Amino acid sequence: MRTILMLGAVAGLIAAAGCGPRGTGEEGVQGAAAPAKIYRWKLITTWPKNLPGLGTAPERLADNLRLMSNGRLDIKVYGAGELVGAFEVFDAVAQGTAEMGHGAAYYWRGKIPIAAMFSTVPFGMNAQEMNGWLHYGGGMELWRELYAPFGLVPLASGNTGVQMAGWFNKEINSLEDLRGLKMRIPGLGGEVLKRAGGDPVVLAGGDIFTALETNLIDATEWVGPYNDLALGLYNVAEYYYYPGWHEPGPTLESIVNQTAWQSLPADLQAMVEVATRAINDDMLNEFTARNNAALRTLVEEHNVQLRRLPDDVLAALKEAADEVLAEVAGDDPLAQRIYASYMEFFAGVEAYHNISERAYLKARAPAAD
Ligand code: CA
Repeated sequence: MRTILMLGAVAGLIAAAGCGPRGTGEEGVQGAAAPAKIYRWKLITTWPKNLPGLGTAPERLADNLRLMSNGRLDIKVYGAGELVGAFEVFDAVAQGTAEMGHGAAYYWRGKIPIAAMFSTVPFGMNAQEMNGWLHYGGGMELWRELYAPFGLVPLASGNTGVQMAGWFNKEINSLEDLRGLKMRIPGLGGEVLKRAGGDPVVLAGGDIFTALETNLIDATEWVGPYNDLALGLYNVAEYYYYPGWHEPGPTLESIVNQTAWQSLPADLQAMVEVATRAINDDMLNEFTARNNAALRTLVEEHNVQLRRLPDDVLAALKEAADEVLAEVAGDDPLAQRIYASYMEFFAGVEAYHNISERAYLKARAPAAD
């Protein structure tokens, strides 16, 4: 198994050695033994440019790769709408409009229904468990197999941790309150809301604020306090609900055009793998560090009303989620293998986490609900 380097340390070493990126003309890198080929890539994202957490991760990834490669892999990052729209990223990278993309696999559910399992499953695995499945449980191999016919190479590239259930303009006291509710919620969670009587819509992050402000939608989920504060959602909704049953630890993805990937020498491919693995971890660290303070700001400065979804509403949503999940693989053999792999890993890791993580959290705070 590969050793994961901490990129801050790598960047420090490179800087200390005085061999940071410089002189990146068309011909090669100054100071190298022989002129090195420079790969200039475009990276398109589904996120608003530089949105804290989600949008800054691909920027950091590009910066790290520039440093690690001594300027040989020079990636320019574009926010949603700059080159293509948020939901055009998959096709644009497949077609080679850009060499690389950053987003979430559930956005491509209309094209590949099972892709949603590589981002998040309602009431499914959390960040720690997803990372275990992807990197040590066979998940990455299946993900690569799923995207190969589209000419794309996927790499896990971020996780937000457990999200919030979302923003509402009314209290949710019973399942009845979800009926007819027009809510921005992507992925399998949207399908679950539909089974529960709601009306799910999918909007890119940059379009949510206006949609809620103009009553195009009644409610929305986005990520969690750190990201939701940045989008200003407290200005357009009063009640902030938890827990994020629909996104218990979504994995974000990088996708690389297969031809562009194969054009890279082995050392640059290795750098991309290590740098994406590092950003996968780094994003979770950032959300973990920032969410708590952001929640305090939302509640104390912006008077946001924090609420927990009632137990019976969560139970009904879980029942609907079990139905949706049972049908997600359909009759496609690869989708069935992905489903079986996820569910088998989930059952095993859940059993162990019940007597480790869960037992510990209960012991640490017995009165917490
Ligand atoms: Ca979300």
